[in-house]
Amino acid sequence: MSIVGHLINGELVADNNRTQDVFNPATGVAEKQVALASKQTVEQAIAAAQAAFPEWRDTPVIKRARVMFKFKELLEQNVDQIAKLIGQEHGKISHDAAGEIQRGIENVEFACGAPELLKGEHSRNVGPNIDSWSEFQPLGVVAGITPFNFPAMVPMWMFPLAIVCGNCFVLKPSERDPSSTLFIAQLLKEAGLPDGVMNVVNGDKEAVDVLLSDQRIKAVSFVGSTPIAEYIYATANANGKRCQALGGAKNHAIVMPDADMDNAVNQLLGAAFGSSGERCMALSVAVAVGDKAADTLVEKMSTAMQGLSVGAYDTPSNDFGPVITCQHKDKVVGYINSAEQQGANIVVDGREPNVEGYDNGFFVGATLIDSVTPEMESYKAEIFGPVLQVVRVKTMDEAMKLINDHEYGNGTCIFTRDGEAARYFSDHIQVGMVGINVPLPVPVAYHSFGGWKRSLFGDLHAYGPDGVRFYTKRKTITQRWPSSGVREGVSFSFPS
Ligand code: NAD
Repeated sequence: MSIVGHLINGELVADNNRTQDVFNPATGVAEKQVALASKQTVEQAIAAAQAAFPEWRDTPVIKRARVMFKFKELLEQNVDQIAKLIGQEHGKISHDAAGEIQRGIENVEFACGAPELLKGEHSRNVGPNIDSWSEFQPLGVVAGITPFNFPAMVPMWMFPLAIVCGNCFVLKPSERDPSSTLFIAQLLKEAGLPDGVMNVVNGDKEAVDVLLSDQRIKAVSFVGSTPIAEYIYATANANGKRCQALGGAKNHAIVMPDADMDNAVNQLLGAAFGSSGERCMALSVAVAVGDKAADTLVEKMSTAMQGLSVGAYDTPSNDFGPVITCQHKDKVVGYINSAEQQGANIVVDGREPNVEGYDNGFFVGATLIDSVTPEMESYKAEIFGPVLQVVRVKTMDEAMKLINDHEYGNGTCIFTRDGEAARYFSDHIQVGMVGINVPLPVPVAYHSFGGWKRSLFGDLHAYGPDGVRFYTKRKTITQRWPSSGVREGVSFSFPS
């Protein structure tokens, strides 16, 4: 069985350490193994990055950007290959994987603008013959730790920008679907990136803990579940590192009585069940305002769901694939069971889907649960599966209170035809990314991505303008050149 290794100093290596199975979630068969890096292996990657840093930092920014232009081209030429690797290990349908890669490429495009992004700030004559400016200098070696659900896109939220800003990078991707990430990192070498600037170590907690404690790592970007995000943030901070740690979510859509219901149903289908609901921006709760809206929504939704098809990644007519592991399937089904036991109404039941030819795959069918209440376990937790829950409320304020009271604050959306209601919603909702008739309001690459409350630990959001600030430190220089020597004598006070 092949072993997915690491990329250190431009070379593919596998240590003789522990390994873990990598499954094809559609067949349920372990088709590969991934090497789990030891402390020593991670330290080798950090040392390679540290050694590459001085030269890379001093490489003119336009030359660093040129590597990104070439990298973008290579990504575009290899979309099918990357999508296939994602499909084999994640289960994502090829058209959805291609969409993920495209969103990653957009972050590379943003990174291509580094000469403009890193210009800094300049003020002339802040005092007599005194000029002052701020530069944005790279931090050194920085690390990224990423989740299974976007093995191509989420790493590309991080390393293109970090690298183009002059840093060197050590990436620890998800051990559940490591191949597409490793493949992408190899393209950087082909694009002309010097060895050591980008390194990938596969692994688990053992590898992560080295990244969190090693003094050579100056900053950590993390994306994953909230308990781990909180641990990463606290540990990185305690060790004096800059950290942004993006966590889990529970994204609600308010469906107002005046909404275009057919449009809302169409949008909710993709946003709730696309990628098997394994998106941190998935809409997993529809809050219907008024029983009439709720009845119409549930009826139209359940009819539309009959047309959905769950299956393997390489059949393009499938709408979504399996969930990531057998254990995760059990967890999703467990939440559906608990909702049923706690009195909710299972309108469309995906617990036992029939996927012909894939009897051992980790499939869960699209599931619709009505009359869910905030006390239910299934409401409180992030299910991360193809499950849409409907909560019935009487007023928009009641709907907004539900959202504002929830521990997560990643994304949300309102379906309405009323501009004033939409404006009130976006003004007062305690969530970082808001959609008005847009179900998945994922910011484009030239804005920044991040939730509020327990969906993000840290000050700066991921990628875009916040990403540039995260991966650089400001240095402010104040300069004066006296006309001939020091003629004015000494002053002990601030000039007034
Ligand atoms: P996860 O938290 O299990 O794993 C994320 C990363 O952390 C992986 O690289 C993993 O190896 C590592 N890790 C796991 N346990 C660890 C431990 N005890 N100590 C140190 N490192 C550890 O998340 P996942 O299951 O891979 O991804 C799904 C989660 O990610 C969901 O909660 C989802 O909402 C979240 N997510 C959030 C965003 C966002 O932008 N907010 C985006 C994508 C995914």
